Amino acid sequence: MDRVYNFSAGPAVMPVTVLQKIQKELLSYQDSGMSVMELSHRSSLFQSILNDAESLLRELMDIPSNYEVLFLQGGASLQFTMLPMNLGKAKVAYVNTGSWSQKAIEEAEKINGLTVEVIASSKENQFSKNPVVPLVDETFDYVHITTNNTIEGTAFLDVPTSGDVPLVADMSSNILSSSYKVSDFGLIYAGAQKNIGPSGLTVVIVRKDLIGLKENLPVMLDYKVQADNGSMYNTPPTFAIYAAKLMFEWLQELGGVAEIEKLNRKKAAMLYETIEASKLYRSPVDKGSRSLTNIPFVTGDAEMDKLFIKQAENKGMINLKGHRSVGGMRASLYNAFPLEGVEELINFMKEFEAKVKGD
Ligand code: PMP
Repeated sequence: MDRVYNFSAGPAVMPVTVLQKIQKELLSYQDSGMSVMELSHRSSLFQSILNDAESLLRELMDIPSNYEVLFLQGGASLQFTMLPMNLGKAKVAYVNTGSWSQKAIEEAEKINGLTVEVIASSKENQFSKNPVVPLVDETFDYVHITTNNTIEGTAFLDVPTSGDVPLVADMSSNILSSSYKVSDFGLIYAGAQKNIGPSGLTVVIVRKDLIGLKENLPVMLDYKVQADNGSMYNTPPTFAIYAAKLMFEWLQELGGVAEIEKLNRKKAAMLYETIEASKLYRSPVDKGSRSLTNIPFVTGDAEMDKLFIKQAENKGMINLKGHRSVGGMRASLYNAFPLEGVEELINFMKEFEAKVKGD
């Protein structure tokens, strides 16, 4: 069967070679006579998958040894709760750059006794431009940012400084697609279903001194319990961890994050240039704040957008519809999205524009 060009914001496209490897190993993993899905999480075969996944991620992101890597469940959305529950002692700061930041803020506000301050926001400009993030004093327990705003298409590619206050990032939609320095952060979290693999897995990278600050938390929501048990307090999402391990191997073979970032920059630049050069399409995002992974564009006419999406679909380019809250189109170009798919989209955009402009 032919594969489509899948521009989905997540779950998103995975490399064919990874899918083939999964297929090949599906019935009998390493001659065990069992599928990975059937392995006990306490078996040595699974333990080595987990160990490999962790060490590959450590290499790819150059994670220092004073950080724990946790493989959890509940999605990035559960981190909206776990984070303030574990790290919020009195007062926490949030930067509001879009729908996902807003959800993170709302969940932090539900933690009893915690003061949540929104220290910067781009709401006034419809989340089209990164706000300036002020330094906060040390009475704050952390500063939370969303490095990439999946829906609005903005990103902090250079992270704001937070002084001695730990910086925390929701990196769900650009982890492993651009280089970040882990030591700039106290904690990083990401749902897996964009650059890491299938959904069902959430990665948390947390500085060890930020673990165990609060006592008597519900066990499953306590970073200390998860860390002390090597992410296996209960049954972890074994298949998703296995697929993530294969994705990490794939990325490492390509040369790691620095190499994929070059490719991602190229893919994004090609698309932004096409948008800029056109008289039909427009980017709603300020030039200095543009994401490499989620690229929204509009024609300014909802009916025209619909027609574009329909015709693209007929050509095997799917999931180009913008998020329901913003409309228009959105091309998500994660690591596994091929350059040829971007070329195909650009050709179609030009063809469509020529047709509707009648030249
Ligand atoms: N944060 C960001 C930036 C996201 O893009 C998403 C999902 N698209 C989430 C949080 C929520 O993630 P999950 O569905 O894994 O809870």
